Amino acid sequence: MEQQVNSPHYLALSGGVGGAKLTLGLSHVLPAEQLTIVANTGDDFEHLGLTICPDIDTLLYTLAGINNTALGWGRQDESWHFMETLKALGGETWFQLGDRDLALHTIRSQKLTQGGTLSQVTHFLCQQLGISPNVNPMTDDPLKTIVKTTQGTLAFQHYFVREQCRPVITGVEFEGRHSAQPSAAFSSALHHPYLKAVIICPSNPFVSIAPIRSLPGVDKALNTRPVIAVSPIIAGKALKGPADKMMRELKIPCTALGVCEYYGSLLNGFVLDEADAHYSQEIEAHGVRTLTTQTVMKTLDDRIRLAEEIVTWINTL
Ligand code: GDP
Ligand code: CA
Repeated sequence: MEQQVNSPHYLALSGGVGGAKLTLGLSHVLPAEQLTIVANTGDDFEHLGLTICPDIDTLLYTLAGINNTALGWGRQDESWHFMETLKALGGETWFQLGDRDLALHTIRSQKLTQGGTLSQVTHFLCQQLGISPNVNPMTDDPLKTIVKTTQGTLAFQHYFVREQCRPVITGVEFEGRHSAQPSAAFSSALHHPYLKAVIICPSNPFVSIAPIRSLPGVDKALNTRPVIAVSPIIAGKALKGPADKMMRELKIPCTALGVCEYYGSLLNGFVLDEADAHYSQEIEAHGVRTLTTQTVMKTLDDRIRLAEEIVTWINTL
């Protein structure tokens, strides 16, 4: 579709599960040509000879409506013959790969080996899955999230999946961040002449959004653009994953206010849950506009309603 240069544009920054929920809502509310979706790739890793991109995959499956809601990751209608056989043959089984999921990783890996960029390969997969707008990797270059813990340094998936986030974290690093460049789609959305807002999805601020921000020039550009964030912390808790545990271990107050202060001067607006309404006044006093609403997205209707409210609110800022 041809891009209408003078219509407002929105850029959504997303990790996996939390980000994909809001992104799905946004994709129902905004015309495809007005929305750029950028995914964290700091979680990506090579496993069993395959390139696996967990956050891109969660976005692809969610936007295609084929995500596994029972598991909270992977595809629906999954079967596990590959894993059973892998185990019987003495292979590494700490990372689960369903049979259908495996086909996607195989195609991606083949196309990357043949010289395609991650952006090209991801756009191809979007096309095959009937997804629009495209999902874009934050970068086509290698950038790896490394978790520093009291038990030593761990590759992200070793921390997240193999060790199930048990080690106490002391910091997070992004290997390759100085030489990686934002992808073309990311860069052009960041500098879009009619950029209405950057929407930081309710994703993990430390391991989903921080890798995106760590790319050269990104934080600097974000500082000059209208940015709003949606809190992934509700009533002091993450709905899923280790964001709350990480905040405690990093000695950041584990509240929606803590998330808002962590993003700091980057933000023009902050979306917080009704359960956290009492922080609104303090946040507004710092010059950050707030939208207090129901932010728990259980159904598709919840996702669309929240996205609609956010877009309407952005237009009042
Ligand atoms: P991951 O890459 O799969 O870990 O996913 P993200 O980083 O995108 O999202 C993880 C965060 O999403 C967690 O901190 C959750 O608290 C948050 N989250 C999940 N579901 C919801 C929801 O319905 N509403 C809000 N506000 N946050 C959510
Ligand atoms: Ca992730």
